[in-house]
Amino acid sequence: MLREGWCLSTTTMLHELLDTTRLYMTSRMRMFNNSTQQDHSSCTKVECYANQVDEKTYETKHTQQCQGCGHITVDAEKVAAILRQGQIPLVAIVESSSLHPDTQLEFVTDRPYVALSHAWAQGLGNAHTNSLPECQLSKIKGMFSQLPPTASAPNSSKLAIWVDTLRIPVADSLKDVRKLAITRLATTYQEAEHVLVLETGLMSSTRSASRIEKCSRLLSSAWLRRLWTYQEALLSKNGNHGDKLQIQFSDGAIHFENLLRSHHSLCHSEKAAQTLFMALPLTGNTSSRLSTLTRTLQYRTTSKHEDETICLTSVLGHDVHKITAAKTDERMAIFYSFIDCVPRNMIFRTFPASKLLGTVGRRNHLQQSRSIATAHSLEALRDENGVYVDLVTLEFCSITPPTWPVWHFVMTDGKQHWSLSPAESKAGRNEEEWKKITMEWAAFDKSVVEAVRGAVILNEDRVTGLRTLVSILREEGETRFCRFLALARVFVLTTTLGRV
Ligand SMILES: [Zn+2]
Ligand SMILES: [Zn+2]
Repeated sequence: MLREGWCLSTTTMLHELLDTTRLYMTSRMRMFNNSTQQDHSSCTKVECYANQVDEKTYETKHTQQCQGCGHITVDAEKVAAILRQGQIPLVAIVESSSLHPDTQLEFVTDRPYVALSHAWAQGLGNAHTNSLPECQLSKIKGMFSQLPPTASAPNSSKLAIWVDTLRIPVADSLKDVRKLAITRLATTYQEAEHVLVLETGLMSSTRSASRIEKCSRLLSSAWLRRLWTYQEALLSKNGNHGDKLQIQFSDGAIHFENLLRSHHSLCHSEKAAQTLFMALPLTGNTSSRLSTLTRTLQYRTTSKHEDETICLTSVLGHDVHKITAAKTDERMAIFYSFIDCVPRNMIFRTFPASKLLGTVGRRNHLQQSRSIATAHSLEALRDENGVYVDLVTLEFCSITPPTWPVWHFVMTDGKQHWSLSPAESKAGRNEEEWKKITMEWAAFDKSVVEAVRGAVILNEDRVTGLRTLVSILREEGETRFCRFLALARVFVLTTTLGRV
């Protein structure tokens, strides 16, 4: 797959999600957009950079059939005026005749509409003006007419359109309105009649393609990898109309629910897709929603780092305005101020929990060593000091430096011996990667040696769980304030090995 130009992160993700048969079938799928048009050479296992957008060089694309046509621009001042009045700016696409399709846009505000969900990298964005090529608008209009009629929109071809490209002002002078539009995204997607997903890979396939193919295309789509589109999918589920996410194929759209629901049984790729989308809609308290979010977000990224907090805040249902009003480097801290409770196992997770927590630049964990009375509780309180958990901790009185390459350190309580090692395993890695990791172990060893008061927070999940290596900063009563150092594995050494 890599030789054919597939993205390393997509391939890795599919390798994790699919069984061998499904993976093989997916590899035989022709990927128009992934293999032939995009450059995935700098992508890593966890992140795809091909869909990152550089606004300076961004170019809006025409349809494949287009020989060249003009852009239709909307009046950004008018959009701004509608937004300032508290309304959602929409446009209706008007075509005067099919023979001479002279497409025009008409401002409307109170009409059922379709909100588009697309990855900018595929060409439907515009970083410079609020305009789109005529050919694209005409194509979109055609897609609308095939959408199923609803109670409030019996005639699909009359549906208005909401697309960020036209509806979020880009001009620098309208920055305040841009923020206003972003804070109103939730309402925009909730109140849409349909949310239509436009993705090149999916649109190169048909509705009649096999279930496996459709699902594999969804899994390997650029749409699935963007944080904004996740927010859009999620918001569409929280709206008043219920499920309205439609996935566009070359010959029409399929209701998202129908794509993953079968009367008989789900095939493996469908199950995999469902795992990624089971978070829709997000339910429960902040802690459980955040927990689901961290699972779902591991495959998604945004082009602009500061956008992450906007998406996350919106997804969790908090006030986006507080984020957009803040400076970009303060946004993560504000996001955390919304969350006073996190899943307690978060302190043992490598990714993406650490991605979320790590951005705050502070990973202090609090430890009450005496009791594990609240072990059944899944939630940990959080304040400006960090996360409060109640777990057993081993504090080092003394620690023996590495005696064996994979053991690193040996701890003993007089009876039993444990080995303390960095939390990496060789599984799924090639020799070169593994060599790099073993070289990084020196950093782990250094952090243990340099921790003035080192300790290991034990995980309740003793079989698979990682342990958190911390340094104890101070004590207040029975509470120990710790700073995160690294994730570690702890093995009980057998008697024979213990003697070494
Ligand atoms: Zn990639
Ligand atoms: Zn065109």
